[in-house]
Amino acid sequence: MAIASVNPATGGIIEEFTALTPQEIDAKLALADEEYQRFRKSSFQERSAKMHAASEVLLKRKEELARLITEEMGKPIQASVAEVEKSAWGCRFYADKAEEFLADEMVETEASKSLIRYQPIGPVLAVMPWNYPFWQVFRFAAPALMAGNTGLLKHASNVPKCALAIEEIFREAGFAPGSFQTLLISASQVAAVVEDPRVKAATLTGSEPAGMSLGSTSGKALKKTVLELGGSDPFVVLPSADMEKTLETAVNARMLNNGQSCIAAKRFILHKSIADQFLDGMRERFNALSVGDPFDSSVKIGPLINRQALEEVEDQVARWKQAGGEIVCGGDRSELDLQGGEELQQGFFYPPTILAGLSPETPIAREEFFAPVALVFRADDAEEALRLANDTDFGLGASAWTEDEAEKEYFAQGLEAGCVFINSMVKSDPRIPFGGIKRSGYGRELGRDGIREFVNIKTVWIA
Ligand code: NAP
Repeated sequence: MAIASVNPATGGIIEEFTALTPQEIDAKLALADEEYQRFRKSSFQERSAKMHAASEVLLKRKEELARLITEEMGKPIQASVAEVEKSAWGCRFYADKAEEFLADEMVETEASKSLIRYQPIGPVLAVMPWNYPFWQVFRFAAPALMAGNTGLLKHASNVPKCALAIEEIFREAGFAPGSFQTLLISASQVAAVVEDPRVKAATLTGSEPAGMSLGSTSGKALKKTVLELGGSDPFVVLPSADMEKTLETAVNARMLNNGQSCIAAKRFILHKSIADQFLDGMRERFNALSVGDPFDSSVKIGPLINRQALEEVEDQVARWKQAGGEIVCGGDRSELDLQGGEELQQGFFYPPTILAGLSPETPIAREEFFAPVALVFRADDAEEALRLANDTDFGLGASAWTEDEAEKEYFAQGLEAGCVFINSMVKSDPRIPFGGIKRSGYGRELGRDGIREFVNIKTVWIA
């Protein structure tokens, strides 16, 4: 994919970039390694002061950075502001907690002293997606740098301006140039970086094929990886759920980020006794969402990222119909009443859509829909709801909605996912770990577990 910034609301090219040459990459890896040799010996106080400064830079520049995000990837402007603020929170969180999370842990043995010590491992490569172009990067970078590693970012090819801005933020905060560098490279150049002996580990957030590719390259090079991949999160609604609150969250959970979030609720599994009522409520709310110019603060849904994403969802909806499924609302781009000017006609907009009427076993019902499209299924009872929720190759997040105490525990225990939320939307939060199981990947970001992914967990035994 060419490295280019394209406004998805208009289709207009903002700026194109040339990929780094092998010589330029080599110079950046040398700098990352050189700085690591100094940085790994720095104190938590030094790192923490710089990470706090990064948080302040983000907050000081949040309006400008939010405009950059919305321009490059199309999320509504308030959501971009919230993303910059959350990135600042991630920096503050690890600036304050890293020392505690990585403190020596004494272990009682027959040695005179035995302990676990957490030490940095070296330059880490992060391959990141465009959907949360700031938050995804900061949730890697804040813990990685606080642990004493240096960071290398290969960002998605369609958000190069965000990628360059993030590097600039770390510089402005006082980090040395080698601490965090953006590599403007294509996906085909990633393997050589992973194989380079100066790079010690890698993390990737993105699609399954990208995860498999990075995972196998890293496997051959015997390097640690964390993979955060796709999801098709279930959202289970049981009869005792608070209907208004659940409906309101259902809409947010599906529509977040123009429907392009890995942890969006994608499969709505409704108990048969409330299914009709819930579906009516969803349809009414989906139809009321304004679609259009993401810079207009009253707009709720902006464009999809690019033409390919638009064509993919159109193909998925067509296959749903072909399989005998029902389109409850949306599903037709030509009927969109876009909010904004003429220039939006070339944008990649898709209407809020609900699909129903198919068995969850149908092949199309098992795919991830990375667009504002909700899939609805019915269950006879809580047991069937749990079985359907778990009947997926993915295992990222899951939520269940019920006021029944026994059911809360039943779903918390039984849902097969890295993150289970009861009566709340699935979300990432710096204080708690985030990650998936099954084909949604492995390893964790955030919380104490996140910062311990890219460290040497050293056993020290003094006899
Ligand atoms: P993608 O195509 O996999 O891109 C993600 C990143 O991987 C980009 O930087 C991309 O670079 C790079 N990449 C692609 N192919 C690669 C390869 N063969 N080797 C190395 N790097 C490669 O992902 P996407 O389709 O844009 O993003 C949507 C997917 O990401 C969805 O499945 C979504 O659920 C998932 N996602 C997961 C999480 C999570 O936390 N679990 C969060 C967000 C998104 P180029 O841009 O240059 O191709």
